[in-house]
Amino acid sequence: EQQVRELRRTLGVKVSGASPPHPVSSFGHFGFDEPLLKSVRKAEYTQPTPIQAQAVPAALSGRDIIGIAKTGSGKTAAFIWPLLTHLMDQRELRPGDGPIGLILAPTRELSLQIYNEAKKFGKVYNINVVCCYGGGSKWEQSKALEQGCEIVVATPGRMIDMVKLKATNLRRVTFLVLDEADRMFHMGFEPQVRSICNHVRPDRQTLLFSATFKKRIERLARDILTDPVRIVQGDLN
Ligand code: ADP
Ligand code: MG
Repeated sequence: EQQVRELRRTLGVKVSGASPPHPVSSFGHFGFDEPLLKSVRKAEYTQPTPIQAQAVPAALSGRDIIGIAKTGSGKTAAFIWPLLTHLMDQRELRPGDGPIGLILAPTRELSLQIYNEAKKFGKVYNINVVCCYGGGSKWEQSKALEQGCEIVVATPGRMIDMVKLKATNLRRVTFLVLDEADRMFHMGFEPQVRSICNHVRPDRQTLLFSATFKKRIERLARDILTDPVRIVQGDLN
């Protein structure tokens, strides 16, 4: 326990919630399978960032998470790696069905960034990733969804459009990520985010990431997360 406290202090992370999993300071100790370790090595990352060191073990243990850390701290991989591990733990990946992992992000640029990261690390597993954002071709995006995939990265409004068009469904989603929740709220996506959460099975795992933690995000967290581990990295202002 003394060591765990010391490591958290070094990482600059504050953790709350019931029995939070210990942080891990090297990739070799995450318990990733060989293909994933290989693609992490290929990315030439030498060690986990502080938010990854604490959020990855918590996510791998199946817990819901609130992750607060500023831009550039490596939050994307902190949810992509546990998501890929979650996918590999499924007994079968039926092709031609709706996603198992759903990631919501505020903008087209951000969705594409996450999409590229998911493709980069998911390549070793032949994971299909589809990206849907406002302003892109609905026809092309729905065609891509109809092929079936394991991960969808989407802006909230476009995700709802796609479900309404019956291009896909959320029945298989067991891993839900809200990335940059504060920005999604700033952009007025709160109703869409809540609606999507209500349409995903309640026994899912949910990860919420944000650069800030204000009242509205706190309220959302209370409504959609179950017994979360809350991780704050660095100084908040
Ligand atoms: P955030 O979402 O917190 O703003 P990103 O996930 O976009 O941060 O990551 C910022 C940059 O850091 C990206 O270029 C990413 O490839 C890189 N990165 C992520 N994890 C690591 C790591 N463990 N070591 C080195 N670079 C990393
Ligand atoms: Mg990010």
